[in-house]
Amino acid sequence: MFNRRQFFLSLLAATAKTVQTVRGPVPVEKLGVTLMHEHVLVNFTGATYDRDEAFRVALPKLEDLYDRGCRTLVECTPDYIGRDARLLRRLSTASRLHILTNTGYYAAANDKYVPEHAWKESAQQIANRWITESRIGIDGTDIRPAFVKLGVDAGPLSEIDTKLIEAGLLTYRATGLKLHVHTGNGIAAKQILGLIDKAYVWVHAQNEKDHRAHIEAARAGAWIELDGVNERSAEAHIAVIRALIAAGYLNRVLISQDSGWYRPGEPGGGRFNGYTFLFDSFLPALKRSGVSDAHIRTIMVDNPARVLTS
Ligand SMILES: [Zn+2]
Repeated sequence: MFNRRQFFLSLLAATAKTVQTVRGPVPVEKLGVTLMHEHVLVNFTGATYDRDEAFRVALPKLEDLYDRGCRTLVECTPDYIGRDARLLRRLSTASRLHILTNTGYYAAANDKYVPEHAWKESAQQIANRWITESRIGIDGTDIRPAFVKLGVDAGPLSEIDTKLIEAGLLTYRATGLKLHVHTGNGIAAKQILGLIDKAYVWVHAQNEKDHRAHIEAARAGAWIELDGVNERSAEAHIAVIRALIAAGYLNRVLISQDSGWYRPGEPGGGRFNGYTFLFDSFLPALKRSGVSDAHIRTIMVDNPARVLTS
């Protein structure tokens, strides 16, 4: 028989929301300050690489981030262009950051990174692969994805794009994992909104210059991810964030840098961009523009927690 205390504890365990990190499930309130879209390693060339070297290059950059108070990094490199769950787990353990990885395929860049089987299989067969990763693990590990990452060109959606989005929707219905879709601007963003609305994280939304499109997508329930924060883009990012807040959609805004990028095949992995600009320069500038600390906390802590669970 349960006593009263055990009963309430079991109730709490049943209702507590967790997020899958590369080191296993973590209660959502532990995620803290979160960067929603970064990369550790991206391998467009398929070059072989030394995982120890990639680890040595990336670790100090992740430690810098932890020192800034960041606690979670969402790693957005999909399978077939360099997703390396084992490397991410090792880096997560060493840096103490929570790192999240994904399932799904990248059909931007004229579909050249879409794996052979995806052309032949049905949306349901593709979804079954992603659902299996979500339930069992990635690449022979027990590491489970926290979201579905898809990429499509600016549009209109091709047949393979549409099939992958359908597969994403089937995965979402089976697992609750949202669809983070690399689309940029263009007609594809609108088409996807029509297909998936509330499960949609509009990746690279900063490429769309018309703020009305952001507001319309937020009104439909999508998440607006402004993920290319850097020195050149900072001013434009601040303008979109302020427009979304003014329209009442603070709770749909996600920001990040799309930074990192150890590149196999280049000496030493090429030029690895650190992750600290957002903390050292961008957030202070956002605050000077009139966005309050409470709103910044919503964007950096509360919104990531909600998009990764609800
Ligand atoms: Zn990216």
